[in-house]
Amino acid sequence: MQDLQSIQDEALALFSTIEQPAALEDAKARYLGKSGILTERLRALGQLPVEQRKLLGAQINGTKQALEQALVQRREQLAQDQMTRELRAQALDVTLPGRGVLRGGLHPVTLTLQRIEALFRSVGFDVTDGPEIETDAYNFTALNIPDDHPARAMHDTFYLDPAHVLRTHTSPMQVRYLQAHALPVKVIVPGRVYRCDSDMTHTPMFHQVEGLWVDETVTFSALKGLLVDFMRCFFEQDSLKARFRSSFFPFTEPSAEMDIGCVICQGQGCRVCSHTGWLEVLGCGMVHPNVFTPLGIDSERHVGLAFGLGVERLAMLRYGVNDLRLFFDNDLNFLRQFATR
Ligand SMILES: [Zn+2]
Repeated sequence: MQDLQSIQDEALALFSTIEQPAALEDAKARYLGKSGILTERLRALGQLPVEQRKLLGAQINGTKQALEQALVQRREQLAQDQMTRELRAQALDVTLPGRGVLRGGLHPVTLTLQRIEALFRSVGFDVTDGPEIETDAYNFTALNIPDDHPARAMHDTFYLDPAHVLRTHTSPMQVRYLQAHALPVKVIVPGRVYRCDSDMTHTPMFHQVEGLWVDETVTFSALKGLLVDFMRCFFEQDSLKARFRSSFFPFTEPSAEMDIGCVICQGQGCRVCSHTGWLEVLGCGMVHPNVFTPLGIDSERHVGLAFGLGVERLAMLRYGVNDLRLFFDNDLNFLRQFATR
């Protein structure tokens, strides 16, 4: 009797100190399992005389019930504690300060386009856009680039079908705009263009701005002055140097390429300008009579000036970005640098 009471006290004391459900099941096995202390006692009853067996059996069963009841209570207590802990861990402190709102920003290419548009608008240019899917006729033939012309090979063209392409330049809009508007015209056409080309300095899609100025009195020197002024305003460098080199485009005659003094090293020579001190920034020229004539424009009377510049190129130089692909990776750490400009 005394022995059973001390077993019961010891077991109840043990149960009350256990914190883990698994440890509680181990403790249960120690007393009530197959070879548990109480189980062994019950088994040993068989060797006792009948009278003693009855009495002791009832006492052992009483102890067993007490332990089982204690186990049930302890299990409930542990489950309760566990839930309290979880609720406390998930508690929401509504008095904490907020995390702040992340503000978006415009993409550097968009910022550059807006800047180009604003500068040309300020000197009287209209701004328009045109289709990115273009006919072969507008993209090439109307611009004095017939079927067998080697310039077609210079453009790595995405053909949609034999008659349609993703435009390789914004120049087709020269023709479309002249078809739709009476002279004189003064317009720029920003937009996406496509070439089947991809490496460190080329992407399959990039942005160009086409410029067209047709009037009876404009001159090539007026175009030069306009473009030099534009570059000086764009880079905010009043004494920026510029030069024009003769070049070739099928749809302008004469044609020229414009260089500016390197805006990174101020002409001293650096990696960006290949140590020449000069940067090639755009192509330009006077509209070829072969473009004007089919449109019914008399090239003896009207002078057309055209130019095309690469937007990513200007954005890279203005913001000091050295890899074209950064503009298209959409890495937020890169893009956030431009958010407040
Ligand atoms: Zn340089």
